[in-house]
Amino acid sequence: MGFTQGVRSQRSSRLFLLVACLMVPSSVPLAAQVPPPLESVPEPLVFAGSDDYPPFQWHDDNGMPKGFVIDLQEAIAHQQGLKAEHRLMAWDQAVEAVEAGEADVVALFVSEEREERFDFTSPIYHVAHGIYALSPDSIQKDPSDLSGMRVAVVEGSYAQNRLRENPSGGELRPQEDIRSALLAVAEGRADLALVAAHTARHVIGQSSLDIHQVSRPFWPKAYAFAVRQGRDDLHAWLEEQVGLLQANGTYFEIHADWLSELEWQPPTWRDNLRTLAWIALPLLVLGGGGYLWSWSLRRQVTRKTRLLSRELESRRSLQGELEYRLKHHMLTGLFNRSAFISKLDGLVEADPDWSPTIALIQLVNLEQLITAFSYQVALELQRAFGRLLEAQDFLLVGHFGSGLFAIATSKPLEGNDIVVRLTEPLNLGSLDLDPVYVVGIVNEASLEEDDGADELIRRGILAVAMARDAHRRWVIYSTDLEPDIDDLLLLQDFHRHGTRDMFLEYQPQLEIETGRVRAAEALIRWQHPTLGLISPGRFIPMLEQAGLTHWITRWVIEEASEMLRRTALVASGFRVSINLAPQDLMEPDLVDFIAQSLAATMPARSLWLEITETGFIHDPSRIRDVLSDLHVAGARISVDDFGTGYASLSYMSEFPVDEVKLDRTFVGDMLTNDRHYLIVRSTIALAHELGLTVTAEGVEDEETLQALVAMNCNNVQGFYLSRPLREESLLAFLDRDMAEMLSGATHSKE
Ligand code: C2E
Ligand code: CA
Ligand code: CA
Repeated sequence: MGFTQGVRSQRSSRLFLLVACLMVPSSVPLAAQVPPPLESVPEPLVFAGSDDYPPFQWHDDNGMPKGFVIDLQEAIAHQQGLKAEHRLMAWDQAVEAVEAGEADVVALFVSEEREERFDFTSPIYHVAHGIYALSPDSIQKDPSDLSGMRVAVVEGSYAQNRLRENPSGGELRPQEDIRSALLAVAEGRADLALVAAHTARHVIGQSSLDIHQVSRPFWPKAYAFAVRQGRDDLHAWLEEQVGLLQANGTYFEIHADWLSELEWQPPTWRDNLRTLAWIALPLLVLGGGGYLWSWSLRRQVTRKTRLLSRELESRRSLQGELEYRLKHHMLTGLFNRSAFISKLDGLVEADPDWSPTIALIQLVNLEQLITAFSYQVALELQRAFGRLLEAQDFLLVGHFGSGLFAIATSKPLEGNDIVVRLTEPLNLGSLDLDPVYVVGIVNEASLEEDDGADELIRRGILAVAMARDAHRRWVIYSTDLEPDIDDLLLLQDFHRHGTRDMFLEYQPQLEIETGRVRAAEALIRWQHPTLGLISPGRFIPMLEQAGLTHWITRWVIEEASEMLRRTALVASGFRVSINLAPQDLMEPDLVDFIAQSLAATMPARSLWLEITETGFIHDPSRIRDVLSDLHVAGARISVDDFGTGYASLSYMSEFPVDEVKLDRTFVGDMLTNDRHYLIVRSTIALAHELGLTVTAEGVEDEETLQALVAMNCNNVQGFYLSRPLREESLLAFLDRDMAEMLSGATHSKE
């Protein structure tokens, strides 16, 4: 706007003082008020006025008279106890009404022309003009220089007359009234409007026009009450009332009420605030949005935090649960393997001088319990056994699953002691059961520097396995139990090279009746590149464990068949005995292979199959079928190592077997061991009764041979006759005359 706040305030108050001074009539003493003769004043006092001249007088929306002048008229009547009547109408009619005596008073701008027709009181107000425009900055603010401007004025107004008389360079655009003049500016038909300020301000406010007063007020014009000439009494009375109104302060109260509409309000701190508000509004909107955003963020954060803390809580409990599960076996609640090991490590660390003793205890009849009773019973037994262990004074108790438990004790353990302590019927609800278990004990283990408790467990498990394998209640660990590390190397090599370094030896068997060697047992050898010659007693059980013997068996059959053909021994009715691992009979492919080999490459009965007694125990009906098939295919079956197992000869004879091979443990010492002597003699007799031939193994001397001949044993095999031989040696051996060897025996038989 170009004015400072201070200058504006000064001007505003100066204008007001001017107005106030002009209002005070010089002829009226302020102190002593003399009321005029009331009879000369009409009752009611009729004020005429414009119905559209805000803020001085107009009809409001309800048709009620309203305005600064109306309030003054009302106050004048009121202070004398009179009634006022306000008749608002078109401006010219109002003037006419007073002239015609139809109304008493009208408020008018004072002018020379009007002073001829009316008597005016002292001015009740001064009305100024102002320039109004769209953009405050681009507009000429001086009414004396409006060159180049299209100037809207009210047709017939004081402003139009004055501009016509004193042209200021502007192009006048007369309009019907102040509102139209302002609209012309708003709609771009005029650059500015030069109109009476009070009404302009009122219209702008009412119609919310974006139009501003861009000049200071100028051309003040006195506004006063007028009465028709000739009504001097009324004029004098009215003049006095106006003075009184000012003197008693009513005028100022009314003026204050209308101040905002009457006067040009130079921008005040409020306006500045408004301007600031307009500038600040977008910022506030942004800020408010920001605040809302941050508020919603905060809410989200609060919600998320709540969720998170709930999540954390459930995680904590889950973690607790998980930690428990990580350390305990769910069935018994005892420490699991890793927890047991770390607890044991802790104990050893706490007391480095302590040589820990542990035992592993394996329940061995769980499978039987499951098949005989139920899985549930097996679980219950483990639970009850766990409770029994917990009830003892062991340092630690663990449950590794599958019926394997572990304990740690402060003192060395006696196997028998454990068995006594842990053998009591366990109550499983509906039934009582004795736990059946084997124990592996590791007493006062001396551990290497980097060995932890897991090494103890490993030793314990080895001892348990040994106990189980050997059908013993307990085994105490010693380094002797450790498997040969070469076994692993052998296994790897077998995987890599198969039978590449293997060969067969043949141990001759002497047929006593004919005095001829007409058979041999094929025995496998492994010439290992680094470990040297390895006996089958070492590697066969290992390969058996690994389920790999069927490869050996195939190879032995092929090799032996090849030998028989190569040496033409097959033609002379020579036979070779092949050793089969019990599990070989469970390999359908292998059984087929044997049957095919018999049919394709050999005359019937040239291949005998040796199967150890234990091979007949498991799944006997299946074994019987397999053996029958092989028998039909031409194979002859020997029961190897007879006497070492638990099977009776009558049981064996139920299978399609042809021969019994007496184990060398009986034969070897039969002359010094009466029991063995009796077993050998009765076995030979019974076998013959059952239609089986007998081969005695492990004959190491002439006396034994003679004894066996005396017992009518059919064949003998042993070092006395010959050690196992390579193929060439066997052929050479067969050329020898056996008569001499047998002469003594034959002699004693006679
Ligand atoms: P086995 O079937 O009982 O074989 C006889 C074992 O007794 C052979 O040991 C043989 O050398 C030995 N022997 C023979 N006569 C005497 C004697 O007068 N005194 C003594 N003390 N021992 C004698 P070898 O060759 O070490 O075989 C051991 C075991 O290895 C065999 O026992 C057999 O069970 C297994 N075996 C050998 N070759 C094979 C094979 O090709 N396949 C399978 N599955 N097992 C085989
Ligand atoms: Ca054998
Ligand atoms: Ca044998």
